[in-house]
Amino acid sequence: METTPTAGWGLYPVVEARIDHPRHPGELIGLAQSGQPHLAQGACRSYGDACLYERVVSTLPLRHLLEFDPAQGRLRAQAGITLDSLLRFCVPRGFFPPVTPGTKFPTLGGCIAADVHGKNHHRQGTLGRFVEELEMVLADGSQVRCSRREHPELFRATLGGMGLTGFIYAATLRLKPIESSYISVRTVRTRDFAEACQLMVETRDEYLYSVAWIDCLARGRGLGRSLVMLGNHAPARGDEPLKLHSCRQRPVPFNFPEIFLNPWSMRAFNTLIYRHQWRRERQRLVHYDPYFYPLDALYRWNRIYGRRGFLQYQFAIPFAGGLELMREILGHIAAQGAGSFLAVLKTFGPEDEGVLSFPLPGYTLALDFPLRGGGIIRFLRQLNRLVAGAGGRVYLAKDAILEEEDFARMYPRLEEFRRIKRQYDPHNQFRSCLADRLGLR
Ligand SMILES: Cc1cc2nc3c(=O)[nH]c(=O)nc-3n(C[C@H](O)[C@H](O)[C@H](O)COP(=O)(O)OP(=O)(O)OC[C@H]3O[C@@H](n4cnc5c(N)ncnc54)[C@H](O)[C@@H]3O)c2cc1C
Repeated sequence: METTPTAGWGLYPVVEARIDHPRHPGELIGLAQSGQPHLAQGACRSYGDACLYERVVSTLPLRHLLEFDPAQGRLRAQAGITLDSLLRFCVPRGFFPPVTPGTKFPTLGGCIAADVHGKNHHRQGTLGRFVEELEMVLADGSQVRCSRREHPELFRATLGGMGLTGFIYAATLRLKPIESSYISVRTVRTRDFAEACQLMVETRDEYLYSVAWIDCLARGRGLGRSLVMLGNHAPARGDEPLKLHSCRQRPVPFNFPEIFLNPWSMRAFNTLIYRHQWRRERQRLVHYDPYFYPLDALYRWNRIYGRRGFLQYQFAIPFAGGLELMREILGHIAAQGAGSFLAVLKTFGPEDEGVLSFPLPGYTLALDFPLRGGGIIRFLRQLNRLVAGAGGRVYLAKDAILEEEDFARMYPRLEEFRRIKRQYDPHNQFRSCLADRLGLR
């Protein structure tokens, strides 16, 4: 059978894959029973190799809504439905996804498998907290429902389990009621990193959503100057109906030549964004779409990093000592001149129930690094050791370079995950490039 080059959102690595497109659960069962190793693949919005393997099963054709109960805000849908389609259905009816990542193009199954977090983790945890039930096809072809009552171990290993426990065929989710499509946003310009962290921690109870954009290329006293964006769902605006956003996506037409991205141009870009808000503080109403999904306005924006792609590095570290470590890491990045258009800071609340879920109580920082040869990979592996040593971890949905030893130090429930995986997938049929690299079997 023909193979196709496939990659995650970072465009690195690229893997030749044979892709199946099942149209109903019966075909998923057939694929599981074939005994071949394989991996469920959603919309490839994970950045590294979590969604890659030589044989993948695309869930995109399984994209139907199955049931909706408006009284309870409960929705049951096939795993291949995208958040975009969910939003089109639920926003006009006065509901919103309880947790959303920074793009609306991933699938529901992909979001559950990564147990995604949003800007509200400090208050509401990951998406997994709102999942009531999963319908799965396991390695032996059997169909099971799992939840906190039925097969609870399988349920908790599948939230954040990166597709390694079985195919998620459908999920039942509790949505959040909303009164308007707007977010009331307070944006504060802070001098440095410490001020941004302090503001986010101090306002945790006041705002459901918080995120900061950090200029990690600024040096000296301006190291880590930031724009902090705090938000709450706005109340109803008279009789105004709840609206979707009408803005068209603009395409990035080709992979940018690498010469466009150099430390000078990135620093200029960051300064421009920071200076864009000249007042210290601004309060305004913003439609949920540009607030949650600003990058979605540019179709295939990942091409701006050039043909060789980029790595996104996202780590979480405990509050205690976290500020100093992030400062140290930002110092290394500024010295290396290797950073990023985008550095995004959030705070996390308590750990979630998923055995391999990423968040831990503390700070999380995400940065992009254009790939320019092996130097950047070596550099990030050094950062991995610093993060692991401080009790932190990196996010598997963004990773392409973590090494097995550091992974084991970062994820203390790894053995528990391995035990559950062996129980439900004894012949290691669900595999990925990430799992092979990290010894996740
Ligand atoms: C611009 C951007 C912003 C982002 N912001 C955030 C953010 O704020 N927070 C956050 O947590 N993440 C964020 N992400 C990451 C993204 O939400 C996750 O990587 C998500 O898993 C992508 O879903 P997908 O459908 O594209 O899955 P894929 O990337 O195709 O797959 C991801 C994983 O899910 C598994 N999987 C997919 N479907 C199934 C299924 N049906 N059954 C079993 N396993 C399955 C795959 O095997 C793989 O391990 C962001 C990504 C982008 C590109």
